[in-house]
Amino acid sequence: AAGAEERELTDGFHLIIDALKLNGVETIYGVPGIPITDFGRMAQAAGIRVISFRHEQNAGNAAAIAGYLTKKPGICLTVSAPGFLNGLTALANATTNCFPMILISGSSEREIVDLQQGDYEEMDQLAIAKPLCKAAFRVLHAADIGIAVARAIRAAVSGRPGGVYLDLPAKLFGQTMDAEKGAASLVKVIDAAPAMIPAPDAIKRALDVLKGAKRPLIIFGKGAAYAQADDDIRALVETSGIPFLQMSMAKGLLPDTHALSAGAARSTVLKDADVVMLIGARLNWLLSHGKGKTWGDAPKKFIQIDIEPKEMDSNVEIVAPVVGDIGSCVSALLQGMGSNWPKAPSDWVGVVSAKKDENIAKMAPRLMNNKSPMDFHGALGALRTIIKERPDAILVNEGANTLDLARGVIDMYQPRKRLDVGTWGVMGIGMGYAIAAAIETGKPVLAVEGDSAFGFSGMEVETICRYNLPVCIVIFNNNGIYRGTDVNPAGGDPATTVFVPGSRYDKMMEAFGGVGVNATNPDELSRAVNAAMDSGKPTLINAVIDPAAGTESGRIGNLNPQSVVKKK
Ligand code: ADP
Repeated sequence: AAGAEERELTDGFHLIIDALKLNGVETIYGVPGIPITDFGRMAQAAGIRVISFRHEQNAGNAAAIAGYLTKKPGICLTVSAPGFLNGLTALANATTNCFPMILISGSSEREIVDLQQGDYEEMDQLAIAKPLCKAAFRVLHAADIGIAVARAIRAAVSGRPGGVYLDLPAKLFGQTMDAEKGAASLVKVIDAAPAMIPAPDAIKRALDVLKGAKRPLIIFGKGAAYAQADDDIRALVETSGIPFLQMSMAKGLLPDTHALSAGAARSTVLKDADVVMLIGARLNWLLSHGKGKTWGDAPKKFIQIDIEPKEMDSNVEIVAPVVGDIGSCVSALLQGMGSNWPKAPSDWVGVVSAKKDENIAKMAPRLMNNKSPMDFHGALGALRTIIKERPDAILVNEGANTLDLARGVIDMYQPRKRLDVGTWGVMGIGMGYAIAAAIETGKPVLAVEGDSAFGFSGMEVETICRYNLPVCIVIFNNNGIYRGTDVNPAGGDPATTVFVPGSRYDKMMEAFGGVGVNATNPDELSRAVNAAMDSGKPTLINAVIDPAAGTESGRIGNLNPQSVVKKK
């Protein structure tokens, strides 16, 4: 006879894995260690893909960008205190960028932490995570795992997406409960990110403002790319005939080569537009807060489409706020426009188009040089052609000059193919984003990295080789941060911004069995990247750039404070 002691049991380990699987989690990005080493093994054995990184920040960045690419929260798994803190940077970055992710960290025992008695890696992780993410939860009882995972998922993807922290004390993993009751306690989230339908009044108001415009402009941000409403977004542009700008990660939502793309006439359209419709883009520093010199003197009316009501009036008055999810909002706008909507005034469209052609023609010859060592334009001209020929490849991009110039030079043709430093302009996302992009999409990845930016996550080249991912890294090596030419006026140590001259980053890749190439001119660079993209082999190309090329802080040198009392 089956006594109570023979009833089947489950435990925390299994309940967490079952809860994640029930909700469609296929991949966990993390770093093993106490108390989650066995959890990682068991998750792998249960069929979840567990990608082990060399540093939690990179695992966290991978989870974040997986969330952006899939609209499902990316999962990052870390150990307690220091591992948690490493992951927390990525969680904060995800929240800032509105990417859904869940950081799951093991933690030490509550009784000891709360009395501050000095446990192994003791830290009140929940309290520390709270201000840096959308929501933070701790689970103390195995029976609560199901509901906690459900809450974490919903919190991450509903409304404005963001980061969620889930704190799992070591003891929870081993806690047992009746297997049947355990299974019944799991929750499969229904409609995790419910549609948020805009009010009809708000749509009408927006259309009225748009109708009165003489020089209208649409600005798409990465929220619009995230929304995956690609067809309606294209229809909105083509029905209205309004020129558009795409913020960095929105590039490719419509091809940058689209007739109405105003990318190459950015300063002109920002200055001269009279009505600006923001779609999934915030009026933050990246858009000069919607005011000042960039925006010119002509009075402007702003329409804003965003899922977050608090975003309205953040920097300037929004005369037509439209709150809802972008898919629903754009579809409502299209419906309201009907089939006879007047196209944007042709004189304005003509002015924008002429300015754009002029700027493109001005840049073209600079992209065709075959100098050795390379300048940024020569090297980027080669990469621009490669993306044109391989539009489904994913471009990861970070650096200062490497970022700013690549953004302008490399046209994108498909949505969500450009992944970069985002809202914070942060360095260190490169390898984490590249790894997750390869895993989540199965497409080849081209990571264009400044030599300094690469250093923040460079050890993950081992991870790329270990999982044999189709990632080609190109390092723009100009020997330092911004440039490689600074000299320390006091002698002694090297200047603060220079690295070892002539470093061979390609050798790093060879150390782990990947392909390393040293490219000294654009032709060599082009050949090496094409070979990497054809073979799918992990590759790192050290692109030798003139140490004197580049400017301080790239395009945002104006953000550097200046000393007025510089000592001689
Ligand atoms: P960018 O940096 O490209 O200008 P931001 O990150 O500043 O873009 O802005 C993205 C905006 O998109 C955020 O304000 C966010 O609330 C919004 N957003 C994200 N997803 C959606 C969605 N599905 N529907 C509507 N708005 C969204």
